[in-house]
Amino acid sequence: QKKTLTLLKNKPTITLDGKQVEVVANIGSPRDVESVIAHGGEGVGLYRTEFLYMERDTLPSEEEQFQAYKQVLEKMEDKPVVVRTLDIGGDKKLPYLNLPKELNPFLGFRAIRFCLENQELFRVQLRALLRASNFGNLKIMFPMIATLEEFREAKKLVLEVKDSLKEKGFAVADHIEIGIMVEIPSTAILADQFAQEVDFFSIGTNDLIQYTMAADRMNERVSYLYQPYHPAILRLVKMVTDAAHAKGKWVGMCGEMAGDTIAIPLLLGLGLDEFSMSASSMLKARNQINQLKEIDMKELVDKALFMHTSEQVMQYVIDKINPTS
Ligand code: PEP
Ligand code: MG
Repeated sequence: QKKTLTLLKNKPTITLDGKQVEVVANIGSPRDVESVIAHGGEGVGLYRTEFLYMERDTLPSEEEQFQAYKQVLEKMEDKPVVVRTLDIGGDKKLPYLNLPKELNPFLGFRAIRFCLENQELFRVQLRALLRASNFGNLKIMFPMIATLEEFREAKKLVLEVKDSLKEKGFAVADHIEIGIMVEIPSTAILADQFAQEVDFFSIGTNDLIQYTMAADRMNERVSYLYQPYHPAILRLVKMVTDAAHAKGKWVGMCGEMAGDTIAIPLLLGLGLDEFSMSASSMLKARNQINQLKEIDMKELVDKALFMHTSEQVMQYVIDKINPTS
């Protein structure tokens, strides 16, 4: 099995009936890139930049960040690298910022909410990113977007920083896609409106499931409600893929669900374009996708969308395609 998987390293990910998708990696540091390449990653679908800020006593400087982003972009050559701007808060703390304790940190002052109120800190990251853009194929992604205004404000800052860098004589790539994570139900529901303004979507199911089911992703007591195959989740994913494709935009997924063997057939059927997962899962996912037909998966998910429980969906997928074999 391992040997046959290795043969897929430099092969495309394409269904038996010719639908090509991308299998890419989630990373947390430039050190992870080696493994992405070793496992045949077609790009990076999520670079979690918060690790640059964590496990230290002060904010990382523009130069430190620039070096990290540049390294990743260079090592990935021309392959796409989606860098997510700082997603702090919730379970990811930055003690040196002395933020007040909150009753519900997962529903609190985090990620893009924090960055839009701490614009100087955000601009430092954007400067580092835009300066690095010339060294590869950078795409910028904002976390925890709940409203169009948040996206517009964040995008405006990117454009402002870009102009001021250019004025100072820095080289910045011309076409940098700017997209959002879909991890809050409001954004999935209004995906048709977002699709007119964003360049791409990446569905963050780790949070989208927690917010849709109102079940803390860290709390064992309610983990039975954390159901990736729940028809409600599948329908939200469908809202995003349909709305995006109607406007010619692509949709990825960077939550754990994207690398799950039972979810992959369903996601293919829903039209997902990019599957982002841990590097070690990529070849297995490619192998699985290469043996499926998109047309069959569409039929599969059309049934799943109208089922009533997660259990039913799971059993149906297992019966139909025996995904673990
Ligand atoms: C997600 O929410 O699905 C996601 C990929 O982001 P994180 O796990 O970093 O919250
Ligand atoms: Mg998230």
